[in-house]
Amino acid sequence: MSGNLAGKVAIVTGASSGIGAATAIALADAGAKVVVSARRTDRLDALVKRISDQGGVAYAIVGDVTDEQQANDLVNKTKAQYDRVDILVNNAGVMLLGMIDGANTEDWRRMVNTNVLGLMYATHAALPIMKAQGEGHIVNISSVAGRIAQAGSGVYNATKWGVNGFSEALRQEVHKDKIRVTMIEPGAVVTELTDHITDASAKERVTSWVESITPLESEDIAAAILYAVTQPSRVNVNEILIRPTDQ
Ligand code: NDP
Repeated sequence: MSGNLAGKVAIVTGASSGIGAATAIALADAGAKVVVSARRTDRLDALVKRISDQGGVAYAIVGDVTDEQQANDLVNKTKAQYDRVDILVNNAGVMLLGMIDGANTEDWRRMVNTNVLGLMYATHAALPIMKAQGEGHIVNISSVAGRIAQAGSGVYNATKWGVNGFSEALRQEVHKDKIRVTMIEPGAVVTELTDHITDASAKERVTSWVESITPLESEDIAAAILYAVTQPSRVNVNEILIRPTDQ
């Protein structure tokens, strides 16, 4: 397939739904070979079929980013399959909203392990490969919640703040190796993200708020990611904050 990303190999975590699935499709449409990863095999298989049917190249690796070994395997199997890792989109995430006082701390562990540690593990595995190639691009999916804190979102805020701090420090460490780092900070996007909230009142609050605005589509975020990864190598788009017009 021809396109701006012809010859490039991309990994997208959390590709079984929402922003990750749309991003995998956009990157494949632009010519990248795309490795899609998440825990739900059926969703990944359907995505690979969809991309292949459209003339693209995709490969599924089932895995849980919170397990360091599985995150390492994802990156190393991609290198074994396609010989390169040019783009890593660290997108897998959960948003288990709720007040801090009285929270179920299992929700906190899931958010920290997925949104922060999972992203760090995959990045850690990709860096030696990107350094050896002399180029690479890590795209970390943060959130407007990484810039604006809100009651009822404290631990999600903490994880996305963490993503932003980690991303900027990483950028400073690896730019000399021609590795670019981009943070994407979406506002409200219609996806399955809110389905997993365990606190009924927090779920009701966010669902009715999203219904009161015109939220973004996953494809809007995929377009922002595609913009960042198709710039000339001298350009590092550090950060994109993208919100619904009425948010
Ligand atoms: P979805 O729930 O649709 O997608 C989340 C993805 O993450 C799924 O593919 C899920 O796959 C995957 N995932 C979750 N846990 C793990 C895990 N332990 N290991 C591997 N994959 C995992 O939501 P979105 O598309 O909205 O979310 C994508 C990212 O965008 C997240 O980081 C989220 O924080 C961020 N974001 C979303 C916004 C929104 O309004 N939707 C706004 C701002 C940021 P599976 O369950 O199959 O493993």
